[in-house]
Amino acid sequence: MPLHTILIKPASGLCNMQCDYCFYCDETARRETASYGMMTEETLRNLIKKAMFQAEREICFAFQGGEPTLRGIDFFRKAIEYENRFNRNRVRVMNTLQTNGLALNEEWCRFFHENHFLIGVSVDGTQEIHDRYRHDKNGGNTYGRIRENIRMLDQYGVEYNILTVVTSQTAERIREIYQEYKRNGWGYQQYIICLDPLDEEPGKMEYSLTPEKYGQFLVELFRLWDRDWKRGKAPYIRQFENYVGILLGYPPEACEQRGICSVQCVAEADGSAYPCDFYVLDEYCLGNYNSDRISEMLTCETARRFVEDSQQISITCRDCEWYTLCRNGCRRRRGKEKEDGQYRDYFCEGYRYFFRHCGERLREIAEFLRERSC
Ligand code: SF4
Ligand code: SF4
Ligand code: SF4
Repeated sequence: MPLHTILIKPASGLCNMQCDYCFYCDETARRETASYGMMTEETLRNLIKKAMFQAEREICFAFQGGEPTLRGIDFFRKAIEYENRFNRNRVRVMNTLQTNGLALNEEWCRFFHENHFLIGVSVDGTQEIHDRYRHDKNGGNTYGRIRENIRMLDQYGVEYNILTVVTSQTAERIREIYQEYKRNGWGYQQYIICLDPLDEEPGKMEYSLTPEKYGQFLVELFRLWDRDWKRGKAPYIRQFENYVGILLGYPPEACEQRGICSVQCVAEADGSAYPCDFYVLDEYCLGNYNSDRISEMLTCETARRFVEDSQQISITCRDCEWYTLCRNGCRRRRGKEKEDGQYRDYFCEGYRYFFRHCGERLREIAEFLRERSC
């Protein structure tokens, strides 16, 4: 079984920030060992070696956290060295790194540029919204420092995406945020639903996003995007591009649009493996990169059950005209239905509102692109 992506946590859940809604802090607090500390070079070597031998054609090493830059730049230099050393299958290697942007400096920027890293930087819209939930360890504001560091990424020609967590507050002010991103020249954007704490009733936190607000957010963002799309000046917004891609017949790029989970091979700092970033929990541990074969971890009973559990589909979804585009969203957000005991995305009503208002226009865009490519 070829391996495409491996998600690595060099500093476990450790972070130099303290965001109010951090899903990974919530997850790590539910494990026997909350933090596995810093990944050793030996573990890094073992997992890169195994991943390179398992890969065919291409592989992506995606570094995440917590905050991965806490592990220090020399660790990443080692990663590049191991990727080169163990590339016996001559596969194409990509590196991505998801950061809060707080600790970036010229040395990091130079390194990212020289080694063609694609960086994801988390920013929540405007200064006011960002600083409401994204604090440093002392509770201080972070927007100003991160904004400066993104300018540095620009100066060094580093490729990056902006990742924005959609809270109740970002959803309400998406027009303002969209204009701000345009002024900043942030052409690659990804909007991620803010998760409520695991196994708790959704919608109870101050930052909680409701299905209604999410639907309105999607419609407003889509209309802004579409207006620019007609002028050939739209930014890349991953979710909309994916919808158009599906309508053009391409397989869904995001796992939440596939209707079924896949095993994503997350590596915690001690080398233990998990099927998805949202399930780095003791009961989902698949094995350890230091001692087990990747092929065995991918096909073990826990992995099989993880995928199988995501296949349950509610009657509402089965009869839904938007199923091809939505496919019941991410399993982490699904709740049990009263009628049939099956699972449906908590944000269903938001999606339906969006598709009702913008689905036809999505189809038009796909049709236009199909004709143009003929
Ligand atoms: S920067 Fe990311 S990992 Fe760190 S506290 Fe915030 S959400 Fe969590
Ligand atoms: S839980 Fe969500 S993110 Fe994880 S594999 Fe399933 S669909 Fe993807
Ligand atoms: S819109 Fe709702 S009913 Fe339709 S596929 Fe998505 S979650 Fe299911």
